[in-house]
Amino acid sequence: MGVNVELNDKVNIFCEAINMKITFLGAARTVTGSCYFIETDRYKFLVDCGMFQGRSKEDAQNEEPFPFNPGDLDFILLTHAHIDHSGRIPKIFLDGFKGEVIATKATVELCGIMLPDSGHIQEFENEWKNRKRLRAGKPPIPPLYTHQDAVDCLKLFRKEPYGKIIVLNDEISIRFNDAGHMLGSAIIEIWVKENGEKTKLVFTGDLGNSDIPILRDPTILESADYLIIESTYGNRLHIDKSNKTDLFVNIINSTLDKGGNVIIPSFAVGRTQEIIYELNKKRERYNGTYEKIMSVPVFIDSPLAISATEIFRNNLDCYDEEARSYVENGDNPLDFAGLQFTRTPEESKALNERTDSSIIISASGMCEAGRIKHHLKHNLWRPECTILFVGYQAEGTLGRRLLDGAKKVKIFGEEITVNARIEMIEGYSGHADREGLLSWIGSMRRKPRKIFIVHGEEDSMLDFANAISDEFGIETIIPFRGESYVISRERVYESTAKAELDAITRRFKRLEILDMLEKLKEELDEASEIVINDLKQETEDSFVDSLMERLKSVEKSIVDVIR
Ligand SMILES: [Zn+2]
Repeated sequence: MGVNVELNDKVNIFCEAINMKITFLGAARTVTGSCYFIETDRYKFLVDCGMFQGRSKEDAQNEEPFPFNPGDLDFILLTHAHIDHSGRIPKIFLDGFKGEVIATKATVELCGIMLPDSGHIQEFENEWKNRKRLRAGKPPIPPLYTHQDAVDCLKLFRKEPYGKIIVLNDEISIRFNDAGHMLGSAIIEIWVKENGEKTKLVFTGDLGNSDIPILRDPTILESADYLIIESTYGNRLHIDKSNKTDLFVNIINSTLDKGGNVIIPSFAVGRTQEIIYELNKKRERYNGTYEKIMSVPVFIDSPLAISATEIFRNNLDCYDEEARSYVENGDNPLDFAGLQFTRTPEESKALNERTDSSIIISASGMCEAGRIKHHLKHNLWRPECTILFVGYQAEGTLGRRLLDGAKKVKIFGEEITVNARIEMIEGYSGHADREGLLSWIGSMRRKPRKIFIVHGEEDSMLDFANAISDEFGIETIIPFRGESYVISRERVYESTAKAELDAITRRFKRLEILDMLEKLKEELDEASEIVINDLKQETEDSFVDSLMERLKSVEKSIVDVIR
């Protein structure tokens, strides 16, 4: 067939006027903001409509208008409830989208609490920004969306089961399959009928490990014409599982011995429940230690925690056999004596007044928003405490800065010294590692013609692309944000409009500057701190003189640039 493609190019060009097109609007050479826009001859839809997470650059990207009229969109398919996949649904609803958001039952239920919570966070952070704007004499701006907007958009959601082929219209059918990443997460198969033939796209969404406890493993698919696959851990291997629980027990144990708190930034339920489940299963192995850990209060500090736990109980069909048999035998590994939920802000604040050790699990997982920021503020400066990361930390997030070894961080405008122990256990990630991703592709009976690599940082994507080509000889594409590809059953070609390409380049330049300025601000803050700490004059005068000279010249250049 491949040979004929070249000969038939002229014919194809004629046909391709009505071939579908996919535009990569997010999670392109980055991990957040998942959003893919697909246009067939008669329908337009999105797969995911996620929020960009990070700093000013990402905030700016969330504010950008969609590059199409949201009112023209027929529907949105949602892979899972995480905010970086679902978080802009209330925004697109405000912008005029009136179609259905189609997802699994558990995803719809989780969105029912996570999106309104995200609205709360938007309002809260917006209030903070507006206070600053008012002081600077600027008019206030509205939040990206409010709690109420998010509640309102929930009426668009439609629940569908796993494993059933759903005919959406005369051209498009879909099926949700287990992705093993979080409760309700799905790999979506999409069949598009065009020009008398069917083309099958597969979006992995976030793909889990096959050994994630509680959830069923990712479904092995029969085939795909084109695969759009995540690559968060495309260049890494997770530590083995037994090791991981040992590490977890050791970190907690030594922190408790020192009288400190363990702070775990995590989406309040999913990951936490998995860890507890693992511990419970292996309690004999840690004789004594397990009981000790379990005798310490474990606080799930999240207004969502209780409702999210109910959603877990409501969706037993998403559990693997082992977890289901525990529950059926009356031993719910997700509940234990020391577990406490804190719902109100007052209860949450009271946690910071406690003097004895505790384990506090609080969202958001990447420390960008929510109650976790208060716990970091109160615990980061204490050397006896530990901040334990159990999930991926995207570039540009507070979590990533801590992992990268920041000595000081700013939280709510206050500078906090980092004295606490910072740890990360990677194996808890809800994402498959390189081996997991490759073996999932490998188990497909009919392999994809081409693979689009998304949802990863650039290094990881490039390594993963090489691994795919070495192992399967399949060509890969790593799209940039805003790039479009025309897809037919036989071939793919890039077709980003010239005007759109120019706009992307111009936009990138501006966003890049935001990043540079933010880094510069941090460097300067750090430099001030060094000087303040040296008021006792321990540094040589000659060094201070040369620093002064260099700073004067930098100051002059910066002022010149701004002018
Ligand atoms: Zn996810």
